[in-house]
Amino acid sequence: MIIKEIGEVLSQKKGVFFDMDGVLYDSMGAHADAWNKAFHHFGIDFPREMVYQNEGRTAKSTINLVFQKNEDRLATDFEIEQIYSKKTEIIAAYPDAVPFEGALMLMADLKREGKAIWVVTGSSQDKYLEALLNDFKDYISADRIISGKNVKHGKPHPEPYLAALDKSGFLAHEVLVIENAPLGVESAKAAGIFTVAINTGILDDRILWESGADLLFSDWQNLVE
Ligand code: CA
Repeated sequence: MIIKEIGEVLSQKKGVFFDMDGVLYDSMGAHADAWNKAFHHFGIDFPREMVYQNEGRTAKSTINLVFQKNEDRLATDFEIEQIYSKKTEIIAAYPDAVPFEGALMLMADLKREGKAIWVVTGSSQDKYLEALLNDFKDYISADRIISGKNVKHGKPHPEPYLAALDKSGFLAHEVLVIENAPLGVESAKAAGIFTVAINTGILDDRILWESGADLLFSDWQNLVE
C-alpha cells in the first residue's frame, strides 16, 4: 500500500519517472566504492561522499570535476577513458545490484491503476539497461527508458527529464519524479516536475531538501508499506 502523503499526489498524476541507481537498485554503495578505488589507482583522492554528492553526472563530467578540483584542469580524453575503464573493471567484480522491493511494490500499484512508468537514468551501459529490462520486466519496456545515450547533457541539467516529457507526451504537471540524488532532484525540478526524494544513500536529508525536493522519504519502507 502506498502511504497517504504520496498517494494523494499520485492520484492526480498520469505517470511516474523513476531514476535508476539508488531508486530502483540498491547499487550506489558499489558505484561509490568503484569510483573511489578507480581514482585511487591513479593517485587521485575522490571520497565516497563526493560520489553521492555528484551522483547523476555522466562519467566524463564526474572525471572532469575531480580533475578541476585536484589538478585545476580538465582531464584528457585518454585520462577519462583510463579512469572510466578502471571503474567499470572494478564494479564488474561486485555482485549484481538488487532491486529495491519497495520499487517493485510501487510499480505493481501503478500498473494496476493504469499509470505510465518511465525510467530516466544517466547510465548508458548496456549491462545495466538489460538488467533493468529483465528485473522490472512486468513494468518497464525499452521504449520507456531515457538513458545516458539519449541526452547530450546529464543531470543536473534538465535535459534527461525534458527528453522524457517530450518522448512520453506528458506535461510536467502530469507526472512525478522519484530521485535519490541531489543533482537528480535539481534536474527534475529544473524540468518543472514534482519530485519525491528517497534518501537511500549517505547524504544528509538537508542536501536533498536544498536541491528542491517536494517530498522526502528516508527509505522505501516509508514510502510503501
Ligand atoms: Ca540515482
